[in-house]
Amino acid sequence: MSHVMNTYARLPVAFSHGSGCRITDTEGREYLDALSGIAVSTLGHAHPKLVAAIAAQAGRLLHTSNLYRIREQEELADKLAALSGMQEVFFCNSGCEANEAAIKLARFYGHKKGVETPTIIVMEKAFHGRTMATLSATGNRKTQAGFEPLVSGFVRVPYNDMEAIRAVAEHNKNVVAVMLEIVQGEGGIHIAALDFQRELRALCDAQEWLLICDEVQCGMARTGKWFGYQHAGILPDVATLAKGLGSGVPIGACMTGGKAAGLFGPGNHGSTFGGNPLACTAALTTIATIEQDGLMARAECIGALIRKLFGEALAGTKGVAEIRGHGLMIGIELERPCGELVGKAMAAGVLLNVTADKVVRLLPPLIFGENEARELVDRVAPLIRDFLAG
Ligand SMILES: *Cc1c(COP(=O)(O)O)cnc(C)c1O
Repeated sequence: MSHVMNTYARLPVAFSHGSGCRITDTEGREYLDALSGIAVSTLGHAHPKLVAAIAAQAGRLLHTSNLYRIREQEELADKLAALSGMQEVFFCNSGCEANEAAIKLARFYGHKKGVETPTIIVMEKAFHGRTMATLSATGNRKTQAGFEPLVSGFVRVPYNDMEAIRAVAEHNKNVVAVMLEIVQGEGGIHIAALDFQRELRALCDAQEWLLICDEVQCGMARTGKWFGYQHAGILPDVATLAKGLGSGVPIGACMTGGKAAGLFGPGNHGSTFGGNPLACTAALTTIATIEQDGLMARAECIGALIRKLFGEALAGTKGVAEIRGHGLMIGIELERPCGELVGKAMAAGVLLNVTADKVVRLLPPLIFGENEARELVDRVAPLIRDFLAG
């Protein structure tokens, strides 16, 4: 442990195995997993179809190179294009890399239009990753502190604020794109209003800006549609994916359509590991299982059930600011910082997370069922009540 760089305030627990919505620590204690490793374990743990597909692929071929055609990558790109309405997909290994590709695309697009210092509008409380460009796009001063100089070329506006974006449009002729999460995850489960999304799409069209949706956390069926932007019936020019895409096998994707399609050619971007046969097989199997088992509709209705049950269990509790969410992306905002609830929930056998200081965040695997939903609320609601009473 002492040789692991100290970049996370880790909880004193390690896990040895899991099955479905349950995960077991090295002491043999079992937990209900309502976090999915931060929206990653889409199919829960040790899903038999995923295990079999990964094992078979490992026995055939793990890695070749993007110097060659990769059959699994082509198949996954076709599938993602069909599901998303986008046209092209670049594969990488994580969310920040997917967003780096999106940022590079936006700048490339700007230069092609003759904009010498292309600028991207980003949102307050946004989270786009930890690399220099994505950290600069992220709307959290704390995570940026100490890493200046930040990458230039971003202007920040409040979330859900069309007027602020229009004001930037009037004064800043260098804007080439707007980048946002349709549901902000790390920022505390904030949802972009449908009208805001549609007006933003129209403004991006009128201004010839790229609309970039960071779907790293809210994509992959978590909100009840494949991608968050589909609830508003809009189509971005760029959409990024990672987290839940491979259900635990690292893979990211930057998808382009509209004005952003066809921008990159050979030499403009790359990745050694990106889209290798193993990762693409994991993603293809994740998608096929979501389809076969109807997990998208389930995410929507189980998420609504969890919110309803928490609403009932916490009705009249002083100190609960709001219970909100979309599908299996749920936030319970309290009126004061509540980080200690993470440990209390663990002691009660539940994995969850607190983000933005005051928001209990739930990101259960998409296989979560009604029984798990009830168990989750039965175990966690009393902890919140006790915490707020204390
Ligand atoms: C987690 C996250 C990222 C960063 O993903 P990494 O795989 O950790 O680089 C980017 N955007 C959003 C919305 C995220 O939730």
